[in-house]
This record gives sequence, structure tokens and C-alpha cells, in this order.
Amino acid sequence: MIGAGHAGLAISRILSEHSIEHVIIERGEVANSWRYERWDSLRLLTPNWQCRLPGYPYEGTDPDGFMSMPQVVERIAGFAAAIAAPVRTHTTVSSVKRTDGGYRVTTDQGEIRCRSVVLANGAANTPHVPQVHRGVPERIECFTAFDYHNPQRLPPGGVLIVGASATGVQLADEIQRSGRSVTLSVGEHVRLPRSYRGRDVLWWMEAAGVWNQRYDEIDDIERARRLPSPQLIGTPERATLDLNVLRAGGVEIVGRLSAIRDGRALFSGGLRNQFALADLKMQRLLDTFDDWGCSQPLDGAVGPPERFAPTSALATPRLSLDLRSGEIRSIIWATGFRPDYRWLEVPVVTAKGELRHDGGVVVDAPGMYAIGLPVLRRRKSTFILGAEDDARDLVAHLTRYLAEAKSGRAAL
Ligand SMILES: Cc1cc2nc3c(=O)[nH]c(=O)nc-3n(C[C@H](O)[C@H](O)[C@H](O)COP(=O)(O)OP(=O)(O)OC[C@H]3O[C@@H](n4cnc5c(N)ncnc54)[C@H](O)[C@@H]3O)c2cc1C
Repeated sequence: MIGAGHAGLAISRILSEHSIEHVIIERGEVANSWRYERWDSLRLLTPNWQCRLPGYPYEGTDPDGFMSMPQVVERIAGFAAAIAAPVRTHTTVSSVKRTDGGYRVTTDQGEIRCRSVVLANGAANTPHVPQVHRGVPERIECFTAFDYHNPQRLPPGGVLIVGASATGVQLADEIQRSGRSVTLSVGEHVRLPRSYRGRDVLWWMEAAGVWNQRYDEIDDIERARRLPSPQLIGTPERATLDLNVLRAGGVEIVGRLSAIRDGRALFSGGLRNQFALADLKMQRLLDTFDDWGCSQPLDGAVGPPERFAPTSALATPRLSLDLRSGEIRSIIWATGFRPDYRWLEVPVVTAKGELRHDGGVVVDAPGMYAIGLPVLRRRKSTFILGAEDDARDLVAHLTRYLAEAKSGRAAL
């Protein structure tokens, strides 16, 4: 197994249930991404009660709260200790190759030969920065979600944030509140209220079965896997953080950054369409919740259906911004994350860097599995609460594979 985040640990727990011998190779420490690759103020956007792992429910006193990063680390490290996970920390995998009987995994601490490999190295190993960044004038400092820590560590002056998914809206809110002027460039996005009919919106996602929808029941799975993260934030106030809230707080909203030419950032004119699309999709999701609610004995457990004001369109959003004028001193690329498979010397990664897999069973690589990727087997796959069901499915497949390999029936 490669990676000791929650997903790798969840698989480890299920492998142990089946008495399958295994080892987890981790380049840093358990929960490394949460320790070193997140900004200071970040809290989970999923409520505490959804932080359950196999055999390890949330039993704290604040089920509806949202964990800070130290709390997430404590929880995942606590899980690793509770299941006595066989983790080799500070060991980096530098290559994985096919052999006759399985795989050869090379690390900076030596080599391991195994029948099966599980890639649990995370979906967000590197921040994705679009090509357009090449046009940014030199005097502007650029950051990603990995090197942004807090507003005080930005150079003085205005900030342009590119991307309005969970990361972009959370950073826009924090930086604007710190007294900076913030411009937020908005492309396709997923709008959600924090609470709906008195319950957390993610309660509805789970209860109404939306998060359980399987990958092979989704019409356009490629698109589903590329969907941006929802505009949500976890705060004690359970506040909604959408574009209306950000605008009211003073954030300037502009369209998708389409080019930087001669030092000028050019924004798309399609903001109204983006707003309309996000509002429509939110509306349809709420309808799905309501339809499900009608078929349930929910008397008194939820409030009446609600509808939210549409995203308010600006009369004349700015279509360009001179990055040489001094108005903007830093840019934060909140444009998503990608996994890193540079060490994977098995031809299973597409030219775009995506792993070829069928619900986590890697294609054309018998005995190789992946976990933790977006919509891997279900809509909830990349979230902490999604790990258990995926881990059980994958271990069932892996167990069959090992049995067949032992009897000589598997295509090695
Ligand atoms: C900013 C952000 C906020 C998120 N918020 C939430 C949230 O609120 N709720 C939620 O449920 N999910 C959230 N997620 C999604 C998800 O839970 C995380 O992406 C999570 O870290 C994925 O878990 P994982 O175990 O798959 O990967 P990771 O936690 O990334 O674990 C992968 C591990 O593999 C190790 N590794 C990688 N490459 C190698 C190598 N070559 N050799 C050895 N080890 C290696 C890494 O060091 C790491 O420890 C968030 C993600 C991000 C990026």
C-alpha cells in the first residue's frame, strides 16, 4: 500500500479483517497531507459525525462541528494507532514496476516485492496551475493552496484569487476579512447552502442517497470526476459561503481567467451563465432532497422546503485587469489539485496524468488498485466517510484476485 492517509488506513483495516499480510509505505508521517499541505485556518467542510472510518465512529462531544487540521491529524493518527496499522513512515516510493508474479516497489529504504499494490497516495498531491500563469508579470507573487498559510504572509496589496470552488471561496473570505482587497475569478462552480431545512446540506447528501450513487450508475462519469468541490466552509456559525455572501463582504467577482496578455488579465464575459448554471444545479439538488423527503417519515425532523435567492449578477463585471498597475500584488491559484504518479512505471496513466481504472481496479494491471480518487466507486469516494465502502469493495476484489493467483488462475 502506498500512502498513510485515511484512505490507505481504511484499506489496511479491512485487509487485517481478512488476515491479508500488508505494509503501508508513507513518505512522511501518518496523515501527512493534513499536517503539511493545508493552510492554517482550514477546517473540514464535512461535519464531525461524517469523519467515521471503519470500526472507528466519531464519538466526540461535537458531532455537528468541523475539525481543524490538528484535530484531523489527531483523529487519523488515532485510527492508525487503534488498528495497529503496519506503517513504514519516512519511506518514499520512487518506482513501481510489473514483475512476473506481481510488482516491485522501490523506495529510498530498499525494495519490496508484492503480489498486489494499492495506490492510496492521494488525489491532491500537487496543486494544478493552468498554463495561463506564464503571462503573470514578475513583480506579482504567486501562491497555491500548498504555499498559502494566512493573509499576514502575503505581500501587502490587492489579491487576485483564481478559482471559486471550496478553496477559492474560503481564501477569498479570509483574505477580504483581513482587510485586503480581493478579486475572485469565477468559472464553473458548485453552489450549496450550508444548511437546508434545518439540517446540514451534507446530511441531505448522505440521507437522500446522493453521495452513495455508484460510479457505474452515473451517465457521464468523466465529467462527474472533474466536478469542482462545492462552495462550502465549516465554521462554528454554520455559515453559508457563496458568491452573494462574498460580494456583500466586498469581494469583487470577475469571470473566468481566460488569458494574460501584455500584463493584462482577461476575464470571460460568461459570468451570468455560470451563475445561472450553478443556481439551477443547486435548485435541482434541493428538489432531489425534497422528493426523497416526501417519501420518508421525517415529521418534525426537518423544516419546510426553502429556496434561495439567485446569485446576483453584476451590471458590468470587469473584463480585464492590468496586473502591472500595482493594484494586484499577489495571485492565488485555487484551480484544483492533481495526483502525482511520476513514479508509477506501469503504463496505466493517461497523457493527461489520470489513472486508468474501473472503480478503483486499475485497468491492465492485475492486482493493482487505487482508493481515495474523486467518484472512484461512489460520489462520496474522496471524502473521509467514503473510504469504508470503497475499501470493502476493493478488498473483496483483491481477496478474489489473490486466491486466483494462488491457484494459478489469475492473469498475472
Ligand atoms: C484542501 C482540501 C480540503 C479537504 N477537505 C475535506 C473535508 O472537509 N472532508 C473530507 O472528507 N475530505 C476533504 N478533503 C478530501 C480528502 O479527504 C483529502 O484529499 C484526503 O487527504 C484524501 O485522503 P487520502 O488518504 O486519499 O490521501 P492523503 O491524505 O493525501 O494521503 C496520501 C498519502 O500518500 C503519501 N504519499 C504520496 N506519494 C507517496 C510516495 N511516492 N511514497 C510514499 N508515500 C506517498 C502522502 O505523503 C500522503 O500521506 C479535502 C482535500 C483538500 C485538498
